[in-house]
Amino acid sequence: MSELPSPDEFLSKIDHKPSPTGWMDTPVEIRRGIACHAAKPDRLEYVGFPNPRDWSCFDEDWQLPENWQEILHKGFKERLDRFRSVKIFMDICVRCGACADKCHFFIGSGDPKNMPVVRAELLRSVYRNDFTTAGNILGLFGKKAKKAYGARELTLEVLKEWWYYFFQCTECRRCSVFCPYGIDTAEITIFGRELLNLIGLNIDWIAAPVAFCYRTGNHLGIQPHAYKDMIDFFTDEIEEVCGVRVKPHFMKKKADILFITPSGDVFADPGTFTCMGYMMLFHFLQEKYGLEITWSTYASEGGNFGFFTSHEMMKRLNAKMYAEAKRLGVKWILGGECGHMWRVVHQYMDTMNGPADFLEEPVSPITGTKFENARSTKMVHICEFVADLIKHGKLDLDPSRNDHLKVTFHDSCNPARGMGLLEEPRYVIKNVCNHFYEMPANTIREQTFCCGSGAGLNAGENMELRMQGALPRLNAVKYVHEKHGVNMLSCICAIDRAAFPTALEYWLPEVDNCGVHELVANALILPGEKKRTVDLRNEPLPGMEDEDDE
Ligand code: SF4
Ligand code: SF4
Repeated sequence: MSELPSPDEFLSKIDHKPSPTGWMDTPVEIRRGIACHAAKPDRLEYVGFPNPRDWSCFDEDWQLPENWQEILHKGFKERLDRFRSVKIFMDICVRCGACADKCHFFIGSGDPKNMPVVRAELLRSVYRNDFTTAGNILGLFGKKAKKAYGARELTLEVLKEWWYYFFQCTECRRCSVFCPYGIDTAEITIFGRELLNLIGLNIDWIAAPVAFCYRTGNHLGIQPHAYKDMIDFFTDEIEEVCGVRVKPHFMKKKADILFITPSGDVFADPGTFTCMGYMMLFHFLQEKYGLEITWSTYASEGGNFGFFTSHEMMKRLNAKMYAEAKRLGVKWILGGECGHMWRVVHQYMDTMNGPADFLEEPVSPITGTKFENARSTKMVHICEFVADLIKHGKLDLDPSRNDHLKVTFHDSCNPARGMGLLEEPRYVIKNVCNHFYEMPANTIREQTFCCGSGAGLNAGENMELRMQGALPRLNAVKYVHEKHGVNMLSCICAIDRAAFPTALEYWLPEVDNCGVHELVANALILPGEKKRTVDLRNEPLPGMEDEDDE
């Protein structure tokens, strides 16, 4: 953060004036603070990816394979046949510009190449040149004619521009909501990154978690014993707050449900408080209703950084979920608060690694509710599960234990736009908190603004980019902070919980960040618990202080 200017200075430098040169004539300038470190070779070697080597985006020579253009042309062609949606997106954009000012990176930077329409043009210009009849014919009339058509050859300069700008897109899909044709620039970025991957152009903040996840089952590379140690540590913390010793299950065969969540929640604050929230909830359900929910140190990652790399890698990393559910013989899978995990689960898992016909169609054993939407994936979102429990009066709750918080809710991009999970988290929050305030309508639900660090961009070296990307979201938080005194930004995504603390510290230090199940656990009355005087963060609960402290 020290290398960043003050927020006021930062704001004064954002310039949305059109550049004096057209985008094709504006050379790419790869800047520190925006670009991410290149992937280290051992990450790529571990998963068998091409062209592992030490390189930097600031080097002149990126040490590409000699025939890199040929590899990319072939990869482009193959993928146009496979991803018909992208081919359509290449053909139908009318360049109306409706998406132009909808990207948080454009709003926060003013860089025209961060307009979704231009980001897509980076790829589309090569598509026009290499894969359209008009591009072929106009090629006979020279570069000028091709340029007038918006076509250009894939040169080294173009390749560097691809790399720089495809790693300035969080694949959030906000732009697609505003496109009259439904063009999804996230799909274009995914396509572009997959091509770059063919010649070893990855970033380390994606490649390292991918390699860790492949090796140990989770992005942080946590070994099974360390994972269990951390959960054991949380049981001590919970006991201190509530006087109840929870007893989580690990890899319990024939448990009712397998629980999978992002590993970030097991190892990094404030996600750890959300993790404690799950543990308290599961303890409550076991004590009250005899429901057995098991954790797994093998399927110890819900997130999937393979998704930010290639479809093939996404499939490889996702496979452990069904494999573990099958091995344990559970009925169905419950998933924790994560963003892109749900995009992968909801939109790809069943076709990539299913059918999971060895699992049952998910039904809540407590309320009898059938989760029809999870019929094919056999995986239910914890907010759906808990909203249903609350609706049926199955949880004992004291929302006043969250009265020290004025809460707003950030719709994480993937659960909101990727699976339509809009009402359930709000329903849960409103039942466990007495003070809830919505941010302005054009910044929430389907139109939610990204945290600015998703899709693998939550690195340390690109802090300027991350603060640009977080600006629109936190501007909306600032609005409810000033209007209603909001002091807690809740969310249901582990990347959000990793990204927001840094961004809030910079843009809005008066506001903190939490997961929804931290709020649930604060309110949840466990059987046999002692009088609570502090919340899960060990912060005193106003009006509930210990008599000794009064
Ligand atoms: S809104 Fe859609 S059609 Fe219009 S420029 Fe953007 S991507 Fe193209
Ligand atoms: S997907 Fe999100 S980050 Fe990418 S161009 Fe669209 S709005 Fe910007």
